[in-house]
Amino acid sequence: MSRLSKPETPFTGSVQNHPALKILRPPNPPVTVQQWSDWQWHLKNQINTVAELEKWLSPTVEEKRAIYFSQEKFHFSFTPYWASLMDPSDFLCPIRRQAIPLDEEFRTSVYEPRDFISDGVKVAQGRLTHLYPDRAILSLHSACVLYCRFCPQRKIVPRESKTHFFSFSNSQDRSILNEKEWSEIREYLNSHPQIQELILSGGEPFLLNDEVLHQIFFNIKAIPSIKNLRIETRILSVLPQRITSECIQMLKEFQPLYLILHVNHPREISPEFQDACAKLADSGIPLASQTVLLKDLNDKVATLSYLFSFLFNLRVRPYRLVQLLPFQGTEHFRTTISGGLKIIENLRGRITGLSLPEYVVDTAGGKISLRYESILSRNKKRVLLKNCEGKVFVYPEKIFSFSS
Ligand code: SF4
Repeated sequence: MSRLSKPETPFTGSVQNHPALKILRPPNPPVTVQQWSDWQWHLKNQINTVAELEKWLSPTVEEKRAIYFSQEKFHFSFTPYWASLMDPSDFLCPIRRQAIPLDEEFRTSVYEPRDFISDGVKVAQGRLTHLYPDRAILSLHSACVLYCRFCPQRKIVPRESKTHFFSFSNSQDRSILNEKEWSEIREYLNSHPQIQELILSGGEPFLLNDEVLHQIFFNIKAIPSIKNLRIETRILSVLPQRITSECIQMLKEFQPLYLILHVNHPREISPEFQDACAKLADSGIPLASQTVLLKDLNDKVATLSYLFSFLFNLRVRPYRLVQLLPFQGTEHFRTTISGGLKIIENLRGRITGLSLPEYVVDTAGGKISLRYESILSRNKKRVLLKNCEGKVFVYPEKIFSFSS
């Protein structure tokens, strides 16, 4: 057992009644209701120093040291809203552990690369990656609303600044898509009509304001072959206030548009999160989720079954459970694939199939689906299948054709 693990404590009842959530609410230091519901206020008051963090909880000596050492190396930043979800009395709080660095982050195992470079065609200095035949991934900028301690995106990569295709509502990031890059991307998409879906992924697309997002979506949808937009976002967990009625109206203009919410733990499903999901779902915006499997944080059957069922009840379809990408300083978050397969098998008999995500691993060649071997053997006559309880069933493979 690692120093970061603790016994499984299944969640029951509603998350908003969790005693730890009540500790920090109303926010400390006090802010007005108007400020708290204003997403721009949260961005202006981001927590990125020990002094800021101390307004919310008493960081340990190790946490302070790790924040200090992460300067110039890894980003450290999150919203006051995210801080309000933390349990100040619990060092192992999953909200805290996803956001505050520890000593482990500065150790790199032999299996952990310092950079992750995926295969596929790269356009405009890697802003656009074309890896799958009918899809491409677009990164508009490199800023996140929370720098998750397990993600390569937390690494600080200085970039040249150029004329921007758009400007940030807050000027915190230097790495924004520029005019020249956008025209290269547009040209590539126009000349590859097999690309029908554009995936907007990290940095956080919703850090841009509605006008800028409208401009971007409008330009993307002006490309005749692009049929779908998919937005992968952490915003509902970290800043649900961003999902305003104006934002939802803007999103509705660009359907079909899918939101994939990154959610790792039931404690992220606050009343604000639930409210934002309800408004989006009521507006007809399809919602799905992805969860990163994280050691000692959510790698328990009870935690994940609660998370997936809760999301499903909010009309968010659990879509993917992602095996953590090995990357510099993330060993303490990594589970084995064998462990992940066992969890999926246990979940299979426990929650409805509609709320069971696909278990996948990211590789340089794209995502690969991971499945526990349910086929024990097969030949031309029959297939031997095993269910989640280990019972064996025979499926006849031979097809008999009857003439009429
Ligand atoms: S890209 Fe997503 S997972 Fe990675 S740091 Fe940003 S918010 Fe976290």
